[in-house]
Amino acid sequence: MSNADLLRRSLAAVWHPCTQMKEHESLPLLPIRRAQGPWLEDFNGHRYLDGISSWWTNLFGHGHPRIVAALREQLETLDHVMLAGFTHEPVVALSERLAALAGHALGHCFYASDGAAAVEIALKMSCHYWRNSGRPRKNRFLALAGGYHGETLGALAVTDVPLFRNAYAPLLRPAAIVPSPDGRRAGPGRTARDAALDAARALESHLERHHAETAALIVEPLVQCAGGMAMHDAEYLRRARALCDRHGVHLIADEIAVGCGRSGSFFAHEQAGIAPDFLCLSKGITGGTLPLSLVMTTDAVYEAFYDDEVARGFLHSHSYTGNPLACRAALATLDIFEEEDVLAANRRLAAQISRAAAPLAADPRLADFRNTGMIWAFEAKTGDARFARRFQQEALARGVLLRPLGNTVYFMPPYVLGEEEAGLLVAATLGALDAVLA
Ligand SMILES: *Cc1c(COP(=O)(O)O)cnc(C)c1O
Repeated sequence: MSNADLLRRSLAAVWHPCTQMKEHESLPLLPIRRAQGPWLEDFNGHRYLDGISSWWTNLFGHGHPRIVAALREQLETLDHVMLAGFTHEPVVALSERLAALAGHALGHCFYASDGAAAVEIALKMSCHYWRNSGRPRKNRFLALAGGYHGETLGALAVTDVPLFRNAYAPLLRPAAIVPSPDGRRAGPGRTARDAALDAARALESHLERHHAETAALIVEPLVQCAGGMAMHDAEYLRRARALCDRHGVHLIADEIAVGCGRSGSFFAHEQAGIAPDFLCLSKGITGGTLPLSLVMTTDAVYEAFYDDEVARGFLHSHSYTGNPLACRAALATLDIFEEEDVLAANRRLAAQISRAAAPLAADPRLADFRNTGMIWAFEAKTGDARFARRFQQEALARGVLLRPLGNTVYFMPPYVLGEEEAGLLVAATLGALDAVLA
């Protein structure tokens, strides 16, 4: 097998995600043969540093021995059993451990496989909760400008990324959109906290008018990722929580990207000292090995469905709900967090990456260099509509996988970079910028 063989066969048989396939005439697919730690390797033995954790999923490097061993053992014990009418140890243990991590404020856990499915579940549960509570008019959702929550129809309806939405507009029942608390919107002489307060005031005036038909507000706490790594002050989340409480509206924290330590704390909402009514997790929860998503919710929500009447139950399911292998990978991921004190190690690693990235922060060709936890981002000042693709190519040529969102370049590396690898990440970025912005 060679790179060229696999590339040709892939283009003939596979429809790749999030891709205008014709672009592969000039930007070749990258066939990957194996991966180890933060490195991907192709069929010619070329290695690429995975600077975006394989779409933000891979936390501890590829092939982590602890996760591999847990999966091997689970595969030999119980591969899968349906979760309706049955239960198994990995799903019980994972639910218990997640509830403990969330301070027991979110005592029940519902499972699916992809992030978008978790968002669908949270939206349906919220709406159904209000129906069960005698408030069926509360069935509309509220989302932030520039937010991203996945691409199935319900999730897309709360996603404010026109490129992903426009073609499907006739299929969607769109959410109301309120301003983003993005710290960059503050304007000259004002702080990120001011931007958060501005956005909270806009939320307040929307809720005053529309609370009677609003089921829930959905947010990506601290960092709106796919919309361009827009970061905000935690004060927004505190205000949003208080406003939702005042107006009887659920708060859904979509931590599919920012959960699992990415924001610096295990859950991003912890940094605001609040608890959401629904918490969506996916991406990193299995350490980037298997698809798993979940929604945690409060006892109050759970109890509103607990009844003699079947139709008041939450009758949503997926065939692989709570798959034991995926749950086991998630348990191994939580073991690593606990035993290796990952959050403390990440604070040291983040300081090191920020030091290495100082030349980017000072580069006059770039704007708005910013960092939250294990996410770094900046904008390239260029009008080149092909910037993202050209930058990606130049970074790959320098041995680093980075995939800008428009003009926004970001790092979202696995939590296991060494000093040399952090240096390579920045050096390849500078080299790619020199080539593209020349
Ligand atoms: C990736 C993402 C999703 C969707 O998850 P999928 O597994 O890709 O369906 C939803 N919300 C956020 C915040 C995400 O980053």
